[in-house]
Amino acid sequence: MKKQFLSLTLITALTLGTAGTTTALAAPHSSPVISKPSTDKQVIKRIDADNIYKNIEYLSQTPRVAGTDSEYKAVQFIKKQFQSYGYKADIEEFSFLSYTDPNLVELSVAGFDGEIQANHLTYSVNGDLSGDVVYAGLGTKEELEETDVAGKIALIQRGNLTFAEKVLNAAEKGAAGVILFNNADGELNGTLGEDNDRFIPSVTITKKDGEALLEKLNDGVKLTASLKIEGAHSGEKTSYNVVATKKATKNNKAKKSDLIYITGHHDSVAGAPGANDDASGTSVTLELARVLKNLPTDTEIRFVTFGAEENGLLGSQHYVDNLPDDDIKRTIANFNLDMVGSRDAGDLVILTNDGEMNLVTELAQASSTRLNGEPTPYGQGCRSDHVSFAEAGIPAALFIHSPSEPWYHTPDDTIDKISKEKLQDVAEIVGTAVYDQAKIEAKKPDFNHKKGKKVKVPHLFGEKEFK
Ligand SMILES: [Zn+2]
Repeated sequence: MKKQFLSLTLITALTLGTAGTTTALAAPHSSPVISKPSTDKQVIKRIDADNIYKNIEYLSQTPRVAGTDSEYKAVQFIKKQFQSYGYKADIEEFSFLSYTDPNLVELSVAGFDGEIQANHLTYSVNGDLSGDVVYAGLGTKEELEETDVAGKIALIQRGNLTFAEKVLNAAEKGAAGVILFNNADGELNGTLGEDNDRFIPSVTITKKDGEALLEKLNDGVKLTASLKIEGAHSGEKTSYNVVATKKATKNNKAKKSDLIYITGHHDSVAGAPGANDDASGTSVTLELARVLKNLPTDTEIRFVTFGAEENGLLGSQHYVDNLPDDDIKRTIANFNLDMVGSRDAGDLVILTNDGEMNLVTELAQASSTRLNGEPTPYGQGCRSDHVSFAEAGIPAALFIHSPSEPWYHTPDDTIDKISKEKLQDVAEIVGTAVYDQAKIEAKKPDFNHKKGKKVKVPHLFGEKEFK
């Protein structure tokens, strides 16, 4: 979003004018809440994009894959930063099962002329085997009952069952391996979902190659395949979340304070330095912790960076699963920041799990309207840590630029593609939205402001397929 440099006084005037409540200042008790510009100002004047940029620069020197030494180093750095702002920061560790991709996947088929490109299925076991190829349809139990696959390699088409069910059905009948072919054009980025001792070596090929093999078999040609998968392994690893808490500075009510989360994930995928994904969200989280540290609030604010997001939101799931009921009940919002600084991505959007507005989108649309003159659009998206909060019934949303940059999950996700202007914009919108709610005696937000537009966001993430 292009930032409009309207003066704060002018914005106030415009807001009042639009709402048609010019008497609001004279009779605040009966009018919609209009944020005092001075409280936004207190947040904005403290935000320093250079600071955010420097933290991204440090974190993105190497990939930070969950469970590796470089993740641990990043976690120590994040803890130290929180401490330098005056927080007592905690590192919470958790273990998870992780799969390391094979470094070699080879498939050759004697009796077939063409070359076949095979991909492993995530969680496939290693193997070095050869055997006759037999067609086993969709790999249902019934089809495998009628096919002699013992010691052979089952050629199975994608569809109906999960890949894991197909592989287990073939394994149960004694197959040595599985070749799964796609039922649509393009490569198949498939996963068996989880580790299982009963899996046999399994690869995927394209629809075109699968149909060509099937045609040969139907013509009565004997096909013998050699299949080699090396270097894959599954094992338990340790990842970490880092948590810093700003307690309510003042709470007039006898009850416990409300709680707001600002979050990001510090891990990256293998091979990607993850400057934008998600050293950017981590560093904006750090910056907002610094900025809000000494501002008076009657709401507790927790700043968390999660590990193992890229392995399936594991850090945030672990964190939310272990929250006491009381904490969940008093949590009113999760602002989750993931990929918020790329100069090559599109505009800022706010995504919720169900595509509906909630307290987070309301607060952020109100703050973006105050700051930029128009509300940041919202839409539906469920590929980041806000999902773990939303599933626990907490209003949660993801802040991200859409469409995403071409460097997403590549070695080119580096610091030189980070825009300080975008970092500043996101930090201001989120920081003022949070403070607007957390400041002493903030009133319930006024949901009568003009609702920002709903956008359709294209599929952002290369999620693996199970079926
Ligand atoms: Zn991410």
